[in-house]
Amino acid sequence: MQRAEPQDFERVLSSMCTEPHPAAREAAQRFLATNPGDPGTYQTVTDLERRAVELLGEITGLGDPTGYVTSGGTEANVQAVRIARNRAETTDPNVVVPDSAHFSFTKAAEMLDVELRRIPTTDYRADVEAMADAIDDDTVAVVGVAGTTEYGHVDPIPALADLADEAGALMHVDAAFGGFFLPFTDFAWHFGHAEIDTMTIDPHKAGQAVVPAGGFLARSSDLLDELAIDTPYLESRSQVTLTGTRSGAGVASAVAAMEALWPEGYRRQYHASMDNAEWLADALADRGYTVVGPELPLLAADVSLSLIEQLRDRGWRVTKTGSGEMRVVCMPHVTRSMLRSFVADLDWY
Ligand code: PLP
Repeated sequence: MQRAEPQDFERVLSSMCTEPHPAAREAAQRFLATNPGDPGTYQTVTDLERRAVELLGEITGLGDPTGYVTSGGTEANVQAVRIARNRAETTDPNVVVPDSAHFSFTKAAEMLDVELRRIPTTDYRADVEAMADAIDDDTVAVVGVAGTTEYGHVDPIPALADLADEAGALMHVDAAFGGFFLPFTDFAWHFGHAEIDTMTIDPHKAGQAVVPAGGFLARSSDLLDELAIDTPYLESRSQVTLTGTRSGAGVASAVAAMEALWPEGYRRQYHASMDNAEWLADALADRGYTVVGPELPLLAADVSLSLIEQLRDRGWRVTKTGSGEMRVVCMPHVTRSMLRSFVADLDWY
């Protein structure tokens, strides 16, 4: 039988996915042939999806949550932009995001024919004043990122939510990466901290579910109703999801992982991953590199491109930021001994 990847996470420092929790793996196996996109037929997995949303609500400070398990952060972000566009009156909608926002917003804007205003960040974070300047009467959504893809930084969510509120725009928070770490930090990022309308939070990243299991949450069901499409031949009358047939394995694994880990397991993981990221940041700083972060368990350092290539040749999966820094994500599979051997290889060159 083929192994999924030759390194099986042994040298993976680039991915936001990780080794699934054993309970998540087992649940995924049991639900491989189920489809939560057809709730009339697959009732057990439909109930599990309700449980997944309830747990995601608990994690993100949202009582009475609505939402669903998406194929990933991309789908959740697309859906947020779609709600914002559908509920607004303007014929010339725009969405204001910090430049650090994930490229899924570029896909959303292109597909939905919405103008995307990417606003330069200051110190790797959304610049509230610059975002305010970019907002106008046609702004349908303001986006804040709670754990950016490249630097793991958290935007000033309450201030951005105030901007959205003043503009009558939807406030969306992308916590796809950060959502399972942030509950154990002092950041203001969730529904209880600010007037947030929708959120992306992905169990298949730090939630330790199997792929695919993203998460999309909305403060109220009327927001989700903006997505409803009639489904004449199914037992259910309408569908809000973007994809039709969906992964029951992802749904079941998300519930299994969250039931096993929320909150204590995730708390332990956050501290272990942060300790590792800080250890690596210190090791890199000791060697003279300029390090950005870690604010969440993710850091970037100005290691040269040729050195990054050499490390890649030795099997290390590391990526570059758009500005060319080496980027390391300390996901649950990343251990201290792995980082020690990474630094030893770095010293070797
Ligand atoms: N949002 C953020 C902040 C991300 O970091 C990512 C992926 O890295 C995404 C969205 C997209 O998620 P996915 O790859 O699951 O579609």
